[in-house]
Amino acid sequence: MSVSGKTAIVTGSTSGIGLGIAEELAKAGADIVLNSFTDSDEDHALAEKLGKAHGVNARYISADMSDPEACRALVEKVGACDVLVNNAGIQHVAPIDQFPTGKWDAIIAINLSSAFHTTAAALPMMRKAGWGRVINISSAHGLTASPYKSAYVAAKHGIVGLTKVTALETAQEPITANAICPGYVLTPLVEEQIPDTMKEYDMSREDVIRNVMLERQPSKEFATVEQLGGTALYLCSDAANQVTGTTISVDGGWTAL
Ligand code: NAD
Repeated sequence: MSVSGKTAIVTGSTSGIGLGIAEELAKAGADIVLNSFTDSDEDHALAEKLGKAHGVNARYISADMSDPEACRALVEKVGACDVLVNNAGIQHVAPIDQFPTGKWDAIIAINLSSAFHTTAAALPMMRKAGWGRVINISSAHGLTASPYKSAYVAAKHGIVGLTKVTALETAQEPITANAICPGYVLTPLVEEQIPDTMKEYDMSREDVIRNVMLERQPSKEFATVEQLGGTALYLCSDAANQVTGTTISVDGGWTAL
């Protein structure tokens, strides 16, 4: 499958799922814009390495996805956007009555509102180009809930709703909008949750992985960033021209339970 000559912007893509999706799109020939908010030498070097490895143009642009203007400016700075992957996301785990307001606001801004702003900036470019793909990274938590993840679950359900509206507003155009809902994928975001969960349940790392994290993932295996990249690539293919406004779960059976 080829996305040769297409420009893909992947938010929050210097690690984890975003980087995995960027890799698969680059492998298939897309020019890539990597993003995070750190703007380090390593970030720029990562883009250079990605471009060289796959013979595509790849660059890094810093933009803080908690800032609405920065979200729109990212897309405008690139000037073209055929594939928009709204992936940036953070997590915080606490009961509702102890959930810090600042964390709630940050999660809603980064995991949900950023996708609204980037989509608003990208749709006119997709319309001009006559082709576009909006791929929102939701979660199994966009379809089900877990305790202590109020902001995350609200944002991930919200992005499924935003995906449906985007699909309806573009339904008669060669543009699709879909959400990918991963189960647990072993990335830095998940890795960071392990120590807190070990403390909370007084469990070993192995028990936390198998009995807490993968408790609801019937396959008992983490999904991989390559599998998510492959799913994004499928959504860019002609086979997916009529796939719009829906969710694709990559969750080892989590949402079948
Ligand atoms: P990660 O922590 O490995 O990567 C997150 C990326 O987002 C990083 O590049 C980080 O720099 C960037 N980022 C964070 N805050 C940002 C900001 N304010 N502005 C710009 N960039 C920012 O996380 P991940 O596990 O790869 O998660 C990626 C997405 O996938 C998230 O939306 C997450 O909710 C979702 N997801 C992850 C899992 C999982 O198991 N890892 C499961 C379901 C959904």
